[in-house]
Amino acid sequence: MAYLIKGAHLVDPQVALDEVADVLIEGTKISKVAQNIEDTDATVVDGTGKYLVPGLVDMHVHFRDPGFEYKETIATGAAAATHGGFTDVATMPNTSPVTDSGSQVRYQIEQAQQAGLCHVRPMGALTAGEQGEALAEIGDMVIEGASAFSDDGHGVQSAGMMRTCMEYVSQFDRVVCAHCEVESLTKNGVVNEGRASTRLGMFGWPAAGEELEIVRDIELARITGCDYHVCHISTARGLDYVRHAKEEGLPVTCEVTPHHLFLTEDDIDDSYDTNLKMNPPLRTQEDAAAMRAGLIDGTIDCVVTDHAPHAAHEKDCEWEIAYFGCVGLETSLPLMLTNLISTGEMSMSRLVEVMAINPRRILRLTPVKIEAGSAADLTLIDPTREITVTPEYLKSKSKNSSFLGATLKGCATDVFVDGKRTLTDCEVTA
Ligand SMILES: [Zn+2]
Repeated sequence: MAYLIKGAHLVDPQVALDEVADVLIEGTKISKVAQNIEDTDATVVDGTGKYLVPGLVDMHVHFRDPGFEYKETIATGAAAATHGGFTDVATMPNTSPVTDSGSQVRYQIEQAQQAGLCHVRPMGALTAGEQGEALAEIGDMVIEGASAFSDDGHGVQSAGMMRTCMEYVSQFDRVVCAHCEVESLTKNGVVNEGRASTRLGMFGWPAAGEELEIVRDIELARITGCDYHVCHISTARGLDYVRHAKEEGLPVTCEVTPHHLFLTEDDIDDSYDTNLKMNPPLRTQEDAAAMRAGLIDGTIDCVVTDHAPHAAHEKDCEWEIAYFGCVGLETSLPLMLTNLISTGEMSMSRLVEVMAINPRRILRLTPVKIEAGSAADLTLIDPTREITVTPEYLKSKSKNSSFLGATLKGCATDVFVDGKRTLTDCEVTA
């Protein structure tokens, strides 16, 4: 199968590309990038008015498979990822059982291959059962294709255990990704501690609960030399610690979610919309502004969704007992286009760095470039096409979006994975 994408605006800072040209895909690879390519055998895809970029990567999603298939499966998660414009996702290991062995990693990769929509790059647990007490089978999981390691959902409470994890993982050239949470400080916390917890009369989850673990882990990265990545960073002070670590040349990176970029604790009103309950919680307006500035200035390396599907009965209840998290794969790119690209605050080139180039580097994936010979993993983006976020719009099995009802401008229209067209004019095509 061959595709000829004509007249799209190609954006790929890896090869200094920011211009309108044609791209020919033959088999699984890009075979030619040039002006006015003619190929009568290829299916022509009109790219006029659209951007073509290296396939988007979300390195923090929860596909709930195995164990919680009523919320999401690898197949439905892959459909949501494709609909959102992604070619690759990294799945977090807090499944049931926890993904802490090689066979678990292999199961996810095989399920994804059966779904045939996007690459799934499982993360393995750092500790057995994410219990924080003994190392998981790290080497076994690397052999089966684990992209990185994390106990996401929990902070690793013991500094000594985290040091052991870092020393071990660094031997395999993988990154430790940390959900930073000191549980003795966040116990019972359901909203940001401060104005929100006072106003709403609920237990607070303090910024310090996140920041203390970031500081601890930066110091552990210093003594172990391990590459260390902060998951879903949410506070301005935490980001300052990462900034200083980077200035010192320490191997530290971080990611942010769209909800921490574009929502704050002030969005929680007396409707108590539990789709705004997440972990870490929505923070202050100053924190969100710092996240946006950090993303633009290079301190934050990636945008991730922390896509966290939950069934209706787990969200249609009192705030205190509702589950943490929201789905995000199908709104991430539209939110970025609407809030940062169309306003001129961020360039498309920077978007490609934070949504395609940097996550591949952190996950140790082969770079995808818009040049002959590269894998044809590509995303075509219409910056003007409007979407309205409704339950029907979402391909995810769960509908717990923080942005239900919003109309956003810009989305992915077509996706190619190893030369296969997985999204065709906004329709998922397995
Ligand atoms: Zn987390």
